[in-house]
Order: sequence, then structure tokens, then C-alpha cells
Amino acid sequence: MNLILFGPPGAGKGTQAKRLQDAYGIVQLSTGDMLRAAAASGSELGKQVKDIMESGGLVPDDLIINMISARIDEKDCEKGFILDGFPRTTPQAEALDRMLIEKSLKIDNVVEMKVDDEAMVERIGGRFTCAGCGAGYHDSFQKPQKTGVCDTCGGTEFTRRADDNADTVRSRLKAYNEQTAPISAYYAEKGVLKSVDGMAAIDEVTRQIKKIVG
Ligand code: ADP
Ligand code: ADP
Ligand code: ZN
Repeated sequence: MNLILFGPPGAGKGTQAKRLQDAYGIVQLSTGDMLRAAAASGSELGKQVKDIMESGGLVPDDLIINMISARIDEKDCEKGFILDGFPRTTPQAEALDRMLIEKSLKIDNVVEMKVDDEAMVERIGGRFTCAGCGAGYHDSFQKPQKTGVCDTCGGTEFTRRADDNADTVRSRLKAYNEQTAPISAYYAEKGVLKSVDGMAAIDEVTRQIKKIVG
């Protein structure tokens, strides 16, 4: 099963992708996570993308397309994958279609997560992640059971993203509205677009997505 989780920054794509990954044994492919790992490693790709990401703009399509194509070819994607944060522009969506034909694969569902602009700003502002295992949390909406201790791995170090600040959020929302939102019509025309209420509680969103993907 191959899925696309589609929605604005802070919609809950990463949160839900991790749950689906565990429930269905398919892998989360987050282009944002891959790019952050590249930036942290100081690789050539990392150097090219770091400033763009910190400004809230989009990384050039060709870099992203090559990165995701290589990732899909890895063995752990055989059982299926969840695209989180890709495609983000019409050229990326078109390149994905060509890539899937070449690889004899298809996307089963595109799930759009709808959320209000204000909720996005609040969600991004309170987002933090376990440095040990990558589990995602929120200051108000998804606190660890024991303050300062990761529920999943027991780690006590957490990180906040450099781009999760008020200024960058505005650029990211602008990039989303101008370049990413139009892709929903692209998938609607193909008849594969489904939507869930991203404003609902985390468990309820998971329930709605599972109902769609079966
Ligand atoms: P995205 O990957 O779409 O940018 P995340 O999954 O990282 O979004 O979620 C953004 C923040 O909002 C995180 O801190 C997460 O804990 C929180 N969050 C995710 N889904 C919900 C929800 N349905 N209700 C409230 N908070 C949520
Ligand atoms: P969010 O969780 O807010 O949706 P991501 O983690 O998906 O954000 O992406 C963080 C940043 O990485 C983006 O603001 C952009 O600079 C870059 N990025 C991630 N995915 C893509 C993509 N498919 N195309 C272009 N840039 C991307
Ligand atoms: Zn952890």
C-alpha cells in the first residue's frame, strides 16, 4: 500500500504517518526529515538546502525528485510507503507519476488533512521532537506522559526545528498556498483524493485515515 499524506505545515502529517507506519508495516518517507538529516550531516546536498529551509522556501524540484526516487528503490519500501511532505509542487506531482510508471508502482490513496491557518501556527509553535527516537510531541496537545521523558524510548533530550518560528511559518504557509495547495485539484481530477478533518483530535484523525485506507 502506497499513500500520500497531503496538508499544510503543522497539519499532523508526520504524527499520522508514524502511526500508519506502525499499524501497516509501511515506511514513512518524509522529505523534510531527509533534508534535515542531510543538513545536519553537512553533506553537499545538506549545504545546498540548509539556508532555503531556514527561510521557509521550497528546495528545488530536481533535488527532491532525485532524492525521493532513490529512496523508493530501497528495500524497506517494498511493502509500501507513506509520502509525507512530497509532492509539494505540480512539477513534483508530475515527476512522481512518471517515476511510478517506471517503477511499476501506484499510489492507492491521497489523503488530504484539512486544518485552519490559526491552528497551524499554534501547532508549529508548540512542536518538539525526541532527539533519541524522533517521536513527535506538542507543548499543549501531545505532552509526554512524564514531563521531560519520551514515552517511546525514555530519552530526555528533545529538539525544536530551526524553521518552527513565527517569521518562517508565514513564508511556509505562503509557499503552501501558492505552490502546494493547487496539487489537491490535480489528484481530485484523477479521482484518488480523500479528505479527513485535521482539526479533530489525533486519535480521531487516525481513525478517519484508517477508514479510508482500509
Ligand atoms: P506536519 O508533519 O504536518 O508538519 P506534525 O505531525 O509535526 O505536522 O504536527 C505538528 C504539531 O501538532 C506537533 O507538535 C503534533 O504533536 C501536533 N498535532 C498533530 N496532530 C494534531 C491534532 N490532530 N491535534 C492537535 N495537535 C496535533
Ligand atoms: P512541515 O512539517 O512543516 O510540513 P517539512 O518537514 O515537510 O515541513 O519540510 C520542511 C522544509 O523542507 C520545507 O519548508 C522546505 O524548505 C523543505 N522541503 C520538504 N519537502 C519538500 C519538497 N517536497 N519540496 C521542496 N522543499 C521541501
Ligand atoms: Zn524517544
